[in-house]
Amino acid sequence: MAGKKTSKKKVRLAHEIPQKRRKMIEKALADHEREPHPEWDKGAEWKSFTFQRKKVEPGTFRTIDFPLLEVTIGDSWPIPVTVIHGRRPGPRVCVIGGIHGDELVGPSACTHLLSPTLLGENKPLDPEQVTGTIIVIPVVNTPGYQRKLRYFPDGRDLNRQFPGNPKGSTTRRVANRLWNHIFSQVDGIIDLHSAAKGRTNMPQIRADLAHPESNLLAKTFGIEVILDSTPPKGSLRRNCVQADIPCITFEGGGADTIDHECVQIAINGIINSLRSLKMITGKPRRPKFRLLASGTTWIRTDHGGLLDMHVKCGSIMREGDIIATLADPAHPGQVVEILAPEDGLMISSAINPFVTAGMPVAHFLPISKHLGLFEDKIDSEGRFIISGSQDEIIWREEVDVDEVEVVGSGHISDDGGWVNEWLGEQTADELVDFEEEN
Ligand SMILES: [Zn+2]
Repeated sequence: MAGKKTSKKKVRLAHEIPQKRRKMIEKALADHEREPHPEWDKGAEWKSFTFQRKKVEPGTFRTIDFPLLEVTIGDSWPIPVTVIHGRRPGPRVCVIGGIHGDELVGPSACTHLLSPTLLGENKPLDPEQVTGTIIVIPVVNTPGYQRKLRYFPDGRDLNRQFPGNPKGSTTRRVANRLWNHIFSQVDGIIDLHSAAKGRTNMPQIRADLAHPESNLLAKTFGIEVILDSTPPKGSLRRNCVQADIPCITFEGGGADTIDHECVQIAINGIINSLRSLKMITGKPRRPKFRLLASGTTWIRTDHGGLLDMHVKCGSIMREGDIIATLADPAHPGQVVEILAPEDGLMISSAINPFVTAGMPVAHFLPISKHLGLFEDKIDSEGRFIISGSQDEIIWREEVDVDEVEVVGSGHISDDGGWVNEWLGEQTADELVDFEEEN
C-alpha cells in the first residue's frame, strides 16, 4: 500500500540556553533512568483512594475538604480537594491553582476541569476512563483568595514556605500540612500561576530542566516556550525537585483578571500532559516547535511618569523596537522611549501606567538564533500565536450558557412589543427608538 505515513511528526527543539547549562541538562537526561512502577501495571492491585479518612472508589470522583490548619477552635480554613480516582492503576498527578490568592487563571482552569464538560460521562476526565489518580485543587490559598491577595493572612508568601514547619508561623504550618498530606504524596504536580499585580505574563512553562522528570513533564504540556529556571527557595517547585517529584509551573495572564486565552491554554496543556502520561485517552497535541530558554532580563525604567505600552505581552521584538514611552504630566513635551535591548520575545509586561524609576516595564527573553520560528506565527497585533490559544473555548457548551435578560425586567407582548414592569407596554417601534437612544 502506497502513501501511508508511519513516521511520527517531530517537534522541532530550539535552544537558547547557555552551553554550560545545556550540557548539564543533556547529561542529566542521558543519565536518567526511569524508575520502574510495577504498581501502575494493568494487572496490579488497585484499591479505593483514601484521603482525610474518606474513601474514593475506583472509577469515581469526590470532593473532600482539607483543613489548612489542624485546630479544634478557630478557623481551620478547609479547602476543597477533588480526587478523580481512575478505574485502572496508574500515577497520581496533582493540578493546583491559587497558591497565590489573587492569581485567578489557575482557579478558573481547575474549576472548568471539574465541570461536567470535562469531568462528565465520556468526557476527557471521566473517572471510568482515567488511569491513575488526578487530584485537583482550584484554590490552595483560599484565605488569600477570599481577601483578593497573593499572600496568606499572616502576610507571608505560601510559595516560599515549603516544606513548612508544624511549629512555625501560620503559613509554615499550612505549607507543612499541604506538603505532608498532599504534595509529597504525588508523582507529578502542575502548578498554575499568573503574574503579580500590575503585570501580565505570556503563557509559558517554567521548570528546572536539569531535573529530568520535570524536564519531561514540561514538554508534555504542548506549549512553545519553556523557561529553564531554578526555583526560589521555599517554593513548591524547589521542594519537589529536591524530593525528586516532577513539578512544573504554568504562568499566564495577570493577578485579579481572568484571561480566556490563558485559561484555554492552561486547560489544553493539562489535558496534553495527562494524555502524554497515558492517564486519560486521546492523543496529546504537540506544538510545531519548543523553545527551551533561560537568561531572561527585566527591563526597568530609569524615570518615572505615565507609561504607555506600545506592544503587547507576547510580542516579537527586534533590537531597538519601541516597547513603551514614558511621559510625565509635570514635564510636558519630554518623552522617554524604552527600547528592546536585543532581538527577543516580551514574556511579561507592565499593565499599570503609574511607574517610578526602577520599576520593571517588561520581562524580556533574548532570542538570538531562533526568532524566525516565532515570526512565522504572529497575530495582527504582533503577538506570537501560542499553540491552542485560538481553539474554541472547550468548557462553554451551549447547555452552560444562562439566558440573560437585556432590557430591564418584563416580557415580550403578543404584538412583538415589550412589557416593562416600570415603563408599561412599549410597541416594537418604540422599542427600537429606546434601543437606539441607549
Ligand atoms: Zn504565582
